Amino acid sequence: MTTTRITEAGGGAAGSLSPSRAGDFMTCPLLYRFRVIDRLPERPSPAAARGTLVHAVLERLYDLPAGERTVAAALGLLGPEWERLLSEEPELSGLFAEGGDGEADRERWLEQAKGQVERYFTLEDPRRLEPAERELYVETVLESGLRLRGFIDRVDVAPTGEVRIVDYKTGSAPRAEFEARALFQMKFYALVLWRLRGRVPRLLQLMYLGNGEVLRYAPDEADLRATERKVEALWAAIRRATETGEWRPRASRLCDWCDHRERCPEFGGTPPPLPAVPLPRESPADRESAARERADP
Ligand code: SF4
Repeated sequence: MTTTRITEAGGGAAGSLSPSRAGDFMTCPLLYRFRVIDRLPERPSPAAARGTLVHAVLERLYDLPAGERTVAAALGLLGPEWERLLSEEPELSGLFAEGGDGEADRERWLEQAKGQVERYFTLEDPRRLEPAERELYVETVLESGLRLRGFIDRVDVAPTGEVRIVDYKTGSAPRAEFEARALFQMKFYALVLWRLRGRVPRLLQLMYLGNGEVLRYAPDEADLRATERKVEALWAAIRRATETGEWRPRASRLCDWCDHRERCPEFGGTPPPLPAVPLPRESPADRESAARERADP
């Protein structure tokens, strides 16, 4: 998979944060600890793998000449892209048991992936689009020294220079009260692009392939400044937790998808001793987090 990178120089960053990790901390500080400080492995999930596969297909689709970007062509990419993902991440082959129920689960999973790819075509016509960037890695350093990073699914640039940031989600659109949370990730990307290019993106577009809804938002400078303050406040809270060692669990419906229940006090478990690390730092290309973000349970 090709990944474009847009970054700026910024040595000596105080730490780094991606929207997924920021989202983890907002969801549950203890979950953030398990993922970033302890770096505990998590089982690959069918939902996350399906998100990665559908994203790969939609990225590859735009390699084709505009006129060839049809539903059939996109569905034809599912097999080869799945094979490629399996070769890059062999542990994915253990997602489904051999034969019997495992085979039926695999078939159902593949049907869901096909349905999401087909639904994409009900939302926009890829023959009429020419994205400026796909799977774009962006990174910038704020004045405080905090490094923000992340992968943007797609960036469209109009002839006028106006920018649209597009993100595909393989889940369903959130209820109204959770929209702000979904938009936080997009505003985070908008903030990074604004800092890199000096122009506020015109539109943020979340495309929910689970139920075929599109969420659009036009940010302004005040929005992005508020996002920057929020990100800085989050980072200050993460630093405090790092210094005090207090990573509080916050139970929610997302616990149903959490791989760490056995070591979580909310479920009668005990977290392992904290490793000795000075400050949480993320890996430069946090692909796992991107997969989890895409699955969007
Ligand atoms: S089970 Fe719930 S409360 Fe516990 S770490 Fe996971 S998300 Fe947090």
